[in-house]
Parts: sequence; structure tokens; C-alpha cells
Amino acid sequence: MASPVHIVVASDDAGLTSLASKAAGDQWHVERCSKLASAEKFLAHPELKLILFDDQILGDADSPSTLVRLREWAPHAPVIYIAAEHNSETEKLARAEGVHYYTSKPIDAERFSQVVRSFLKLETPAITPIRRSPHPRSTASMKAFVMKSLNQVGFMEKPVAKPGIYDAIIKTTRALICTSDSHTVHGAIGSRENLTLGHEAVGVVHEIGSEVRLFKPGDRVVVGAITPDWSDIASQAGHSSQSGGPLGGWKFANSKDGVFAEYFHVNDADANMARIPDGVTDEYAVYCCDMISTGFMAAENADIPIGGTVAVFALGPVGLMAVAGARLRGAGMIIGVDAIPARQKLARYYGADVIIDHGSDNVVRQIRELTGGAGVDSAIEALGADEVFQNAVSVTKPGGTISNVGYHGGGEFVSIPRIDWGVGMAEKTIRSGLCPGGRLRMERLLRILQAGRVDPTRMTTHTFRFDDLDRAFEVMDKKLDGVIKPLIVF
Ligand SMILES: [Zn+2]
Repeated sequence: MASPVHIVVASDDAGLTSLASKAAGDQWHVERCSKLASAEKFLAHPELKLILFDDQILGDADSPSTLVRLREWAPHAPVIYIAAEHNSETEKLARAEGVHYYTSKPIDAERFSQVVRSFLKLETPAITPIRRSPHPRSTASMKAFVMKSLNQVGFMEKPVAKPGIYDAIIKTTRALICTSDSHTVHGAIGSRENLTLGHEAVGVVHEIGSEVRLFKPGDRVVVGAITPDWSDIASQAGHSSQSGGPLGGWKFANSKDGVFAEYFHVNDADANMARIPDGVTDEYAVYCCDMISTGFMAAENADIPIGGTVAVFALGPVGLMAVAGARLRGAGMIIGVDAIPARQKLARYYGADVIIDHGSDNVVRQIRELTGGAGVDSAIEALGADEVFQNAVSVTKPGGTISNVGYHGGGEFVSIPRIDWGVGMAEKTIRSGLCPGGRLRMERLLRILQAGRVDPTRMTTHTFRFDDLDRAFEVMDKKLDGVIKPLIVF
């Protein structure tokens, strides 16, 4: 029988969970959920004594509906809402729903413990009154570039986040716009309201939580585009990008505010950031967040034999880094597929031996001819289109590997060509992955840059100031002016 759950912590903040465990003591079982939906199954538990949730993970926490839902799910247990910034409107809403409102972040451990123990009816000294500053608190605010609603972007002022005990706040110095930012704005992951965009950025540590051990304010750091929750069971199983649910490691500009702002928040800072070595500039390091990590992952997942043959479909920035990764992995022949001359040229620079223009001729036939009729050992799909995925399966020889890194942003299904799949028995492996994050990964990628093995800045076709991000976004969104990767300078 599953052990009873006494306290549910719905939060992205591991520190909050450990504080709650400490306050409650050993005999109480604390369950942490990094999504409200995953908390649902515990809420009806008869032993449940307390629910804590914070607003860093719940984008819609301010809406009455979330509070009503929580109350309906768990009518018998007190709910505490831990807010980063005090907001009297939200407090009123919370109170109306019988939800307790707590507004001290970073959390005062002693007072928090008293609050938790009082709700659990454990013996505790009287709760000390909240110490109010004699002066009104100056709420630091910053400029952020947001998705206002579907297909609408723009700037707005937001408060600078405060770190939880394991978190960091980064002052942004350089960022890159990604095609997936466009996908998001056009609804690929659903609607969002005033969500800060961007997931590729480097910066300087501005503030750290009390339990951050490896970094201090002033450190120059790269932060992975994917910031896993490293205590999650999926991370323990070796799939950290899927921590907290499918694609759950993808938090920036998805489940929380992204990096297109003067400051941004990083969870599990010791595990999700890496110090940038002297000699590697921000303009280089910022490519480690996503482009190099994802492109190299495509080559790693493709299981390329030394001297083997590889086809890379689509030579956008990720495809280009897959080409560079395939060369580093020892490929004997790299075939790049793309129609755009500037991309073709860059692909040759990064290591492609042959380029096929997919617009000009039958790609599958050409790749088979280039490999003596056998097909390639490995095919990398770096676009995210059904037809391209089918071609990748078709050109892969029996026993070979198809590595999908394309973002399939449309359609209901992705299909597999039956005959070229050996009617299901050709021993073709299909692998997929989301950009890997983590300090170890970032440190390895930075070493590649430090050693001069790859120069990603060849992909930087445009540079914009942060104030001009709306124009930069338009250029990337509409793929104007031969853009490959626009760099944003803060
Ligand atoms: Zn990206």
C-alpha cells in the first residue's frame, strides 16, 4: 500500500520542500509536485494535512479559478499560497477562497517553520508577527519582452524575481532568439498571457539563495535552455529533460518566465549553471544553452560509427551544429540537405562533405546513390516535418539509427514509410530527445569552445540591442534578410 501523504508541496522550489519537511519532522510524509496537475492525485487523500503552493510554477495562480480548484480538490486541508511579491488583489482573492496567503520570499526559515507547525497542530511557540520594514519596500522592476497573447508580443515592466534557497537570479548579458520562440508565440504549446519569452541566455550572477554552494554574485555563467528538476525521478532515471512530466525540464518561456528580460530566475542553480571560462566570450558561450547542446545531442543519439555515413536533414542552426557534432563523432561522410545557399555554405564550413538541395531532385534516391545503394548509417531529422521524417527513415540502412531533433509543431501524426521500414523488421532505431541541460553538459560544451573545436558565432547573422527585440523578433519570425541566428545584447 502506498504510504499516506500528509503535506503536498506544489512548487518548482526544492528548498521549499526541504523546509517543509524539516518543519514537520520525520513522521510526516511530504510529497513535492512540480505541476499543479500532478498534485491532483494526492489532494483527496484522507491523511492530507496541508497544501503549500507558490506562484513561480503556477502561471495562473493569480486567477480565482486556480484557488477555487484547489479548494474543491482538497476541501479538508488548509492551503497556503506562498507569493514572491505581495499583491493585495491576490491576497483578497485567496482569502475569499479560504486560502492562506504568505508573502515572504526568500523564506524566513524560522517563521515558515512556525507557520507549518501551527497548521499541523504541532506544538510550537506563538507565531511572531511579520516584521514590516519601516520604509515601503522598493520593488525592483525590470523590462521584459513577452508573449502578450497568441501572436502578440511586446515589452512590459515586471518585478525582478527573488531566488528560493537553491536558486539564482541572473543579470542577462547576451541572448539568442530561437525558432521555437516563434512556434510558441504562434500557439504550438497553447496560449500564454504576458509570458516572458526566450530560453537561450548567459549573464552574471546577481543574487543567490542561501543553499547555493558553487556560485557567487558576479560570476559569469551559462544557463541551459532546459533547467531540469534534478531531484525528480525522471532525472534519476537519466532523462532529466523529462523531469516533472513530458518535456518538463523545459521551463523557460513555457512553464515560467523566460530569459528575454534584464534579469531571470534559475532553479537548482548549482546543477543548472556553469561558470564561463576566461577566454570564452559571452557571444560564444550563449550557443551552449541550446544550439550546440541540441545539435550535438542529435549526433550523439544518431550513434554514428567512426567512418560511418550521416545525412542531416535541414541546416538551420540545430542542423548545422548536428553537422559539427557528426564531424566530432568521427563520421566518414556527412551529407547535408537544405535549399538555402547561405546555410549550405555554413554546412560545408562545419564539416558537410556533400550538400543536396531538397528542392532540386529526389533526395532519397540521391542519398542512396551516394552510399552505393546501401543508405546511411545515421539520419538526423532537424526540421520537424512529416515528409522529412519519412525521408530520414527511408535513407537509413537496416540496422541504422534515425535521430529526431526536429520540433514537430503541426499535424496529428508523424508517419513511418512501411516498406522502407522493412515492414517493421529492418532493425532501424528511432531516437528522439529534448535539448539536454545541466552543469556537466554545459562544462563539456564550454571545453569544446575553449579548445577552438567549433566556432558557433559563424551562425550569428544579426545583432540587436535588447531595446530593439521587437524588431529582432520580427526578423526571426518572418525569416527576413537571410537570418540564421540573431544575437541580443543587453
Ligand atoms: Zn532554442
